[in-house]
Amino acid sequence: MLIISELVVQEELATALRDYVGRETPLYFAQRLTDHYKNESGCGPEIYLKREDLNHGGAHKINNAIAQAMIAKRMGRKSIVAATGAGQHGVATAAACAKLSLKCTIVMGTLDMERQASNVLLMKLLGAEVKSVDGNFKDATSEAIREWVGNLETNYFLIGTAVGPHPCPSMVREFQSIIGKETRRQAMERWGRKPDVLVACVGSGSNALGLFHEFIADEDVRMIGVEAAGFGLESGKHSATLAKGEVGVYHGAMSYLLQDEEGQIVGPHSIGVGMEYPGVSPELSFLKERGRVESYSVTDQEAVDAYQLLCRLEGIFPALEASHALAFLDKLCPTLPDGAKVVVNCSGRGDKDAPTVFRLTQGSSPGDHKRHPVSP
Ligand SMILES: *Cc1c(COP(=O)(O)O)cnc(C)c1O
Repeated sequence: MLIISELVVQEELATALRDYVGRETPLYFAQRLTDHYKNESGCGPEIYLKREDLNHGGAHKINNAIAQAMIAKRMGRKSIVAATGAGQHGVATAAACAKLSLKCTIVMGTLDMERQASNVLLMKLLGAEVKSVDGNFKDATSEAIREWVGNLETNYFLIGTAVGPHPCPSMVREFQSIIGKETRRQAMERWGRKPDVLVACVGSGSNALGLFHEFIADEDVRMIGVEAAGFGLESGKHSATLAKGEVGVYHGAMSYLLQDEEGQIVGPHSIGVGMEYPGVSPELSFLKERGRVESYSVTDQEAVDAYQLLCRLEGIFPALEASHALAFLDKLCPTLPDGAKVVVNCSGRGDKDAPTVFRLTQGSSPGDHKRHPVSP
């Protein structure tokens, strides 16, 4: 009986991912970006983008939101509670709730509501109640958890990334792992073998694990997570948890954490609002500790440059979060052999960030940041 109902859910989910979310997403060969990173002898890696920005809602978040909303419905829960930072998870959850006729409350920090105003409008149009709390994403998450446990019979806490109490991190990773599964199939079809290098931004780890998980056992595939160095790793204003965090317990899980000597949380910063979380996925922490995942970081400035570069070279505007992964190509490409196949997860689209990027750059050319530096 259980197996039959599981199969029904699997079938329902597969249909929704295809017809509602728009999967599978393309593996796009970025010809001009590839040319841009060729050396004087015309050698360099081939760069492919996994186009999660083309999902319904504009980010990878919907892969998980739709699946969890179906589970909530199956469990007989009436009301969904979620926290969002950049608003992408809020939009994805509000959309899934509309589709499945579930009540939806999205909690968001007041600072983020200002910075990502267009997503707040979308959530409201999709029928969600948007509840504001002082602060940012970490404060919104705490409040959403409070709201959830206030009525466990009817509420379902729909977490948007691979953190929080078990089984949240495993569940989110499982639903996002479709990204890597498709990538493997597409790579085999396209060039007959696996990719050589996978690159993804790391806010809390869901799009990175989504791409990486399928390849963990393939030791010949490099996996690189790129965190937000904000104003610089030494500035104290960044979100580079894998690089600078210490082990701690937060929101129900043990992982690396940005904290002071007394164990108090240090507020994260990134121009990619969706990367501002003081913790990081426990599974990604483990993979880094094992040496399976490499981690690096890029600054706000480098991310803004990468945003502009992809606009100009490919006509694609990436989310500022995804721009962190793209920015790392600057350092990575010169170190790779000719023809190496690099897949960058383009985790979302950057309409929401256009006002920020335009304000900082005034339409100047990529790299021309001496005139308009990003500063604290
Ligand atoms: C939320 C978000 C992220 C960061 O979250 P992860 O869990 O690290 O993936 C990255 N990119 C986009 C577009 C997002 O919306």
